[in-house]
Amino acid sequence: MREVSINEIIPVVRSLFIEANYDLGRDVLDAFDRAIKSDESPVAKEVLEELKENARISREERVPLCQDCGLAVLFVELGQDVHITGGDLKQALNEGVRQGYKDGYLRKSACDPFARANTGDNTPAIIHYDIVPGEKIKIIVGPKGGGSENMSSVSMLTPAVGIEGVKEHVIKTLQEAGSNPCPPTIVGIGIGGTFERSALLAKKALLREIGTRNPDPKLAKIETDILEAINKLGIGPMGYGGNTTSLDVFLEMEPCHIASLPVAVNINCHSARHKQAVI
Ligand code: SF4
Repeated sequence: MREVSINEIIPVVRSLFIEANYDLGRDVLDAFDRAIKSDESPVAKEVLEELKENARISREERVPLCQDCGLAVLFVELGQDVHITGGDLKQALNEGVRQGYKDGYLRKSACDPFARANTGDNTPAIIHYDIVPGEKIKIIVGPKGGGSENMSSVSMLTPAVGIEGVKEHVIKTLQEAGSNPCPPTIVGIGIGGTFERSALLAKKALLREIGTRNPDPKLAKIETDILEAINKLGIGPMGYGGNTTSLDVFLEMEPCHIASLPVAVNINCHSARHKQAVI
């Protein structure tokens, strides 16, 4: 059994949220570059150049990529041979969020759903735990913007619609979203499980690197088919037209009930932020 103090965990979470908000991933930047070359619209190319410049300023001048620094979402893979010492893990993760959003001058967006009163420190964080073999803790953070989250959905489709019905549903979701999720987007699709499991699969799918495909060739084909169709919608970067509406589509699937076909579509904006660390 390995002992890990909460005092090791708090600063890691703090800096992960700061870095996620200041330093856009290489995979997203490379996808911008590819899109600048391939998009047929001069306006789309210009917008993509602006997004690159925004990311450069953020990284070099240590300012957030976007005014919306997101709700604090964490995926924690906790080794079953780890013993947390010095306090409560959930409190430690929230303390890391609190410190990161304060010290990084990140906007705090968490509020009471009805009173709309800000909680003041971007907690409580949304934490997903997985107990895994081993004696390490892997922490992945994904600050999630409200604009793209608002355009996401969970639907219980009729099983008879099959693969084509799922494709149509996802494409329609992106069409209706239009420019609201700040395209070019990244689309996470969760199919199967239960209502809530499909949403979690879709959220987890967003953590994949742009350009990676589902290892199942059948699912990989669905990903590329949907991506191609979305990029024919003409929405384009920030809604100014063009053929770069999404940078990638990631699909994760699990078995579901014989009576159900849950399909979740979680959309991420061009500020597709995630960072990870292993303790
Ligand atoms: S959806 Fe993304 S890019 Fe748009 S405002 Fe929110 S965080 Fe910023």
